Amino acid sequence: MAGAQSDVELFGHVIDGEEITAGDGPGFDSVDPYTGRPWARFPLGSGAEADLAVDAARRAFDSGPWPRMSRSERRAILHRLADLVLENRRDLALADTRDMGKPVSQSLNKDVPRTAENLRFFADHAALTPAELYPSDTGHHAYTRYEPAGVVVAIAPWNFPLMLASWKIAPALAWGNTVVLKPAEDSPASVTILARLALEAGMPPGVLNVVHGYGPDSVGSALTGHARVDRVTFTGESATGTAVARAAATHLTPVSLELGGKGANVVFADADIDQAVEWSARAAFTNAGQVCLAGSRLYVHRSIAEEFTRRLCGAADLLVPGDPKDPATLLGPLSSGEHHRKVSGYLDSVAEWGGTVATGAAGPGLFVRPTVVTGLPKEAPHRNEEVFGPLVTVTPFDTEDEVVAEVNDSPYGLNAMLFTEDLSRAHRVAASLRVGTVWVNCFFVRDLRAPFGGVGRSGLGREGGTYSREFFTEPKAVVVRVGEDPGADGAA
Ligand code: NAD
Repeated sequence: MAGAQSDVELFGHVIDGEEITAGDGPGFDSVDPYTGRPWARFPLGSGAEADLAVDAARRAFDSGPWPRMSRSERRAILHRLADLVLENRRDLALADTRDMGKPVSQSLNKDVPRTAENLRFFADHAALTPAELYPSDTGHHAYTRYEPAGVVVAIAPWNFPLMLASWKIAPALAWGNTVVLKPAEDSPASVTILARLALEAGMPPGVLNVVHGYGPDSVGSALTGHARVDRVTFTGESATGTAVARAAATHLTPVSLELGGKGANVVFADADIDQAVEWSARAAFTNAGQVCLAGSRLYVHRSIAEEFTRRLCGAADLLVPGDPKDPATLLGPLSSGEHHRKVSGYLDSVAEWGGTVATGAAGPGLFVRPTVVTGLPKEAPHRNEEVFGPLVTVTPFDTEDEVVAEVNDSPYGLNAMLFTEDLSRAHRVAASLRVGTVWVNCFFVRDLRAPFGGVGRSGLGREGGTYSREFFTEPKAVVVRVGEDPGADGAA
């Protein structure tokens, strides 16, 4: 069982209701990017642990109570879990903050409440959403049953470790599936706590399992290519998504992929500039820019570009590095040394591409100061690749058509933001963008009923509301003869 060893906390796999720490076996540490010291130790799983977890989830699905409970019983347990998440909010928030450097102001006040909200929303949605009925007066009635799909493998990234995992497991569980969750190796603690809380909430053993380890040639690939798994839901980089889809295709396992992005943010000349500056800074620098939805490509109408850039730099400079465990801190370090090297590389090459750093810099330590870059040519990697750090490029534009073409000229298509006071323009431009979500005069506002996902390299499929239901269930048609001649309505 979990416990303390010196000042490093021990966490384990949670399989079939038991927590298994590394003991004398292989393990890995989570390093706090602010202190540079390991703070938690995890067992390093392999194909063997993936098998154990899938077997546990399989048993819990095939013969356990979870899929056979009434929806209201499952709903009650998921609501109890949401209550426990809020009661344990400090531990959960600090786990993410220590694992990957996210300011506790974000993890405590945003990610943990949103995790509870995900659990409640999908619990209610599954319990309350009616199914379709196709009545006929003469021949038959047909209706849809939403059967749980089976064993769901959920693979999560490190940038919103708890919240994004809950976005996947909440609908999967609410619809009666059992789950094997693999968190990112950089941020494995909070979901381990979540799995402990699920047992405390009354979820039967084997329903929510967590296994720790790496992706390729490790737990990740063992799970995604597993023969006894019914769904794979993945959030992470686009290149990894391709590997996951390939592995899942071996057994024709359906996949849902939420992948990388290069969010475009368009500010028209008629925008409310105060609001646009505030939202644009938030879109570019929240979570140190380590957000798939980050507004990292900013297009500003030429007539206001200079003033806008100056004010954006002012907003960027207000975000100063601090201890992420301090509630006043708004800018934490990047998640790891490796990621810091990647992001710093983009800063180092700005001049080489002919651009100017209007504000920002790498350091100290694993921090990157919020960075605004101007003057880069269209082909510069900063304008095309997912930097996943607090770096935003500013590009002036002249016409609506020109900027729409620019935004759409990207392999990614996760999201875009528009700032304009012209209602017709807002609808027109929103309709013409090739992305999964368009925010008008706001950013990051989520309606959990709405579809969420991306086009192109940003993903495959949608999750949220009924879209999650479609993925995590096997819809079944039941056709009941009611008339003398069922063929009256058209037999096959
Ligand atoms: P990543 O792809 O490196 O890793 C994600 C997860 O996949 C980790 O748990 C990792 O261990 C696992 N993994 C890696 N290789 C694997 C393999 N071959 N088989 C199975 N699993 C494997 O991504 P990351 O660095 O953790 O996260 C950042 C990325 O996630 C960014 O590209 C970001 O845009 C994206 N992201 C997308 C969304 C979205 O909703 N679209 C949300 C958050 C993050």
